[in-house]
Amino acid sequence: MHICEFQEMMKRLYLHRDSERGVKGTYEWLADELQELKAALTEGDKGEIEKEFADVIAWLASLANITGVDLEKAAINKYSDKCPKCHKSPCSCIF
Ligand SMILES: [Zn+2]
Repeated sequence: MHICEFQEMMKRLYLHRDSERGVKGTYEWLADELQELKAALTEGDKGEIEKEFADVIAWLASLANITGVDLEKAAINKYSDKCPKCHKSPCSCIF
């Protein structure tokens, strides 16, 4: 499954609800899910970590759907097989 197919699936499943909630509310859910991912990473349980990654990408897709952003296109446009800052692969940016 491509990112665009995942985003389309999320649109079929949740666009009606995401549209009602709006950008701000959906962003808040995404932020909450990131906090839950942080907690799962701290706990270290692989199963929980995977579930939280799933929630983060789901809410990210929901937010992209209601803002009219094509996630796959946006990601590939910015990260096209090289670092967008140093233009190298692998990245050689200095931390
Ligand atoms: Zn770089």
